Amino acid sequence: EEGISVGELAQKMNRNASDIIKLLFMLGKMVTINSSMDDETIELVCMEYGVEVKKEIPVDEDSLEDEVEENPEDLVQRPAIVTIMGHVDHGKTTLLDTIRKTRVVEGEFGGITQHIGAYQVSVQSKKITFLDTPGHEAFTAMRARGAKVTDICIIVVAADDGVMPQTKEAVDHAKAADVPIIVAVNKMDKPAANPERVMNEMSDLGLLPEEWGGDTIFVKCSAKQGEGVQDILETIQVVAEMRELKANPKRNATGTVIEAKLDKGRGPVVTLLVQNGTLHTGDCIVVGACFGKVRKMTDDRGREIKEAKPSTPVEIIGLNDVPVAGDMFKVFDSEKQARAIAERRSQTKIEQERKSSSAMSLDDLARQI
Ligand code: GDP
Ligand code: MG
Repeated sequence: EEGISVGELAQKMNRNASDIIKLLFMLGKMVTINSSMDDETIELVCMEYGVEVKKEIPVDEDSLEDEVEENPEDLVQRPAIVTIMGHVDHGKTTLLDTIRKTRVVEGEFGGITQHIGAYQVSVQSKKITFLDTPGHEAFTAMRARGAKVTDICIIVVAADDGVMPQTKEAVDHAKAADVPIIVAVNKMDKPAANPERVMNEMSDLGLLPEEWGGDTIFVKCSAKQGEGVQDILETIQVVAEMRELKANPKRNATGTVIEAKLDKGRGPVVTLLVQNGTLHTGDCIVVGACFGKVRKMTDDRGREIKEAKPSTPVEIIGLNDVPVAGDMFKVFDSEKQARAIAERRSQTKIEQERKSSSAMSLDDLARQI
């Protein structure tokens, strides 16, 4: 075999070889630092670490390098993926609802849609993707699973209430994720609104407003009445432009599970966010430890679609089981390959569960002694 060795792969991925050896051990493969890896194993390790490899699995070092770094010519702009966070009752849901309705303003049909956990709006003929579910727990859960989905974070602070504990949490999450923050100073229609106080308190958290010489954008708004909401959308586009968000629509799709549920009639129904590549109906896909073929795909308006480009949320059916939010997905060229990888992953999951439950019973035993 001409394959790359464990040590070489580790170096390329900026990982400890021992981590990869451990990972493969858990997957039932005994390797040493000098063992050469077959294509499927490389693919598996990359998927486990969320590193992207292109469709043709690399066979030698040079091609691996090429695969990891996308060909710049293939990269195109993709819509920003935005999460809204903030203290309870400060207006997150109201803001998301108001933004969803702006579609009609932009001349797009269908303001009210089914809920699939994410939606897109067009602003100045460029799309923005909003994650509709997160809230702090989902955000944390996704990050804990290694999923990086958000490009920009909007933190909503009610101007009549100021910075509250969950506001601070939101700031911590956004800082940990290293994404730009836009502060929406909400409920400006209320007589008790005090935006200066919000700006002061946010400055104390290290978010100094632009107008005070800092680099955080604060937008005053009323999510309920709609004032300032367009400003928020335009600000997102400005920040997105500075970030130069790119993806390669030519490759096999990869991305993250946003929501998943079991439907009595349709089986597992899963909302995926395509983050790179293009997802097509008929694609063979591994989602966490599940696999299948994309049998049917619908957009956030419930319309059937045949392909989904980067940053697009879609609902799919066709998986053999229900994955969890934050699981990553990847399209493979053959169903056989997808099935083998999914089976191995679910085997690992079972083994890990068995290990942790046997560890617990050993603990119990120790306690009894
Ligand atoms: P969430 O918990 O952050 O999702 O907050 P909600 O969107 O559910 O809003 C909590 C309450 O504040 C609801 O009664 C909203 O109608 C109200 N609210 C939200 N935004 C505004 C606003 O801009 N002005 C006023 N006056 N009320 C608002
Ligand atoms: Mg809410």
